[in-house]
Amino acid sequence: MISSAEEALLETEKCMYCGFCEPVCPTLPYGPHRGYGPRGRIQLIKILITGQEPSPETISSLYTCTLCAACIEKCPAKINIPRLVVYARSIIAGQN
Ligand code: SF4
Ligand code: SF4
Repeated sequence: MISSAEEALLETEKCMYCGFCEPVCPTLPYGPHRGYGPRGRIQLIKILITGQEPSPETISSLYTCTLCAACIEKCPAKINIPRLVVYARSIIAGQN
């Protein structure tokens, strides 16, 4: 479980934009853009952590993640994206 914004930010900064995670994401083909895949979600989470108000699009992206964890297997940095998404949802819900 991620317990602080600093911890979450450090995790997001491990992303090297390689895109290896995208082909395995079940939601990406159904979204209008890459914000509905793991790489895009990381970028949205980064913005959210800086205190920016989430747009309806950001909320939609983060709540359509199934938390399936398929992306972790493909990520060279082993970023735990579901854990980040859960943290981001707690920000949106006002718990962090
Ligand atoms: S955990 Fe979320 S971002 Fe990762 S592959 Fe599953 S649906 Fe996509
Ligand atoms: S596989 Fe990992 S490092 Fe590469 S884009 Fe996806 S989240 Fe970022």
